[in-house]
Amino acid sequence: MSAVDWSRVRADFPILSREVHGRPLVYLDSANTGQKPASVIEAVDDFYRRHNANVSRAVHTLGSEATEAYEGARRKLAAFLNVRPDELVLCSGTTFALNLVAYSWALPRLEAGDAIVLTRMEHHANIVPWQLVAERTGAVIKVAEVDGSGQLDLPALYALLTPEVKILAFTHVSNVLGTVNPAREICREARRRGIVTVVDGSQAAPHRALDIAGIGCDFYAITGHKMAGPTGTGALWGRRDLLQSMPPFLGGGEMIREVRFEGTVYNDVPHRFEAGTPNIAGFVGLGAAVEYLTSIGMAAIESREKELLAHATEALSAIDGLRIFGNAPEKAAVISFLVEGAHAHDLATLLDLEGVAVRSGHHCAHPLMHHLGVPATCRASFAFYNTHDEIDTFVAALLKVRRLLA
Ligand code: PMP
Repeated sequence: MSAVDWSRVRADFPILSREVHGRPLVYLDSANTGQKPASVIEAVDDFYRRHNANVSRAVHTLGSEATEAYEGARRKLAAFLNVRPDELVLCSGTTFALNLVAYSWALPRLEAGDAIVLTRMEHHANIVPWQLVAERTGAVIKVAEVDGSGQLDLPALYALLTPEVKILAFTHVSNVLGTVNPAREICREARRRGIVTVVDGSQAAPHRALDIAGIGCDFYAITGHKMAGPTGTGALWGRRDLLQSMPPFLGGGEMIREVRFEGTVYNDVPHRFEAGTPNIAGFVGLGAAVEYLTSIGMAAIESREKELLAHATEALSAIDGLRIFGNAPEKAAVISFLVEGAHAHDLATLLDLEGVAVRSGHHCAHPLMHHLGVPATCRASFAFYNTHDEIDTFVAALLKVRRLLA
């Protein structure tokens, strides 16, 4: 792997040179949303300046350019994820993608007595759609627990996979604990038992080379805004036979082949699930984001973020009274923490005055927070564009605000 000049990479992100409260911005909230390189911003700008038109409708030049740009983005994203473009449904993000599986795959199939298995570390986006479907079908939800280090208790998870279980939905990487779950092994166990697997890849796709085909899951959801792309973009990958067996989720233009009042013939997958005008400019930006990440190399990004995580973990662990939630050996660059005697929101508010952006709250993971016995944590999340100096600034700011709160 050739050495990456990380200071040049950082300079690709215009926002990172701004100040907040008179201090250089230290952005440590990339698990919430990632920052965008100039090439992504310019791709969106260029689309609106030069190519803007609707997709799949007009025969005029701009219409074909817009369609080609949108379908080109699907191809780039598919190559990035190692899947076929015609198995990739473009949508607004993971929340939409998971709801699509819940409503279109699960709702028509589940019956009273069936079970859905989730894990304790799921984001609400991978809990609530299943609850909505369970309420309407009479299916029940079972939960796989995490251990003290924030890893899934795998033998207990596999013991839950009894014959009434139809779906196992789990996150690839936890947005709170950083835990990287062994997705391939989990999917193998589920497949052996005939259980359909749904993987929430929101926190995995931005940080590691993904081989969805190699994971062996049935559905995989990603979100564009966490992987250097625009907000309101994302995708659901699904096995073609499963996608083909699913009724449409939303009806409207683009998802049909022929509409008569007597009945409508739907379009092929993936277009069947893309009703209405999509976020065309957003996907053009996501295509540029995927090219950008690929030009750096996901292996280089993963190892850079590992170094940043190791540095931050060591520095934070040396702070008296600071507790880190989640110490899995396989961990993404996310550190949830609390400092004795200080409320998470107070810490985040005072850190902001120092120019340091961290998130505080429940991180859309109430069941995990209940399990940890805390209402909220602070979370510092890192991306390849962060620096070791920023970690030192963050730690110094944390020590300062702790003194203020004491
Ligand atoms: N799952 C996880 C693990 C997440 O971190 C997030 C975003 N915080 C989501 C789902 C929701 O993704 P989106 O923003 O695309 O709705």
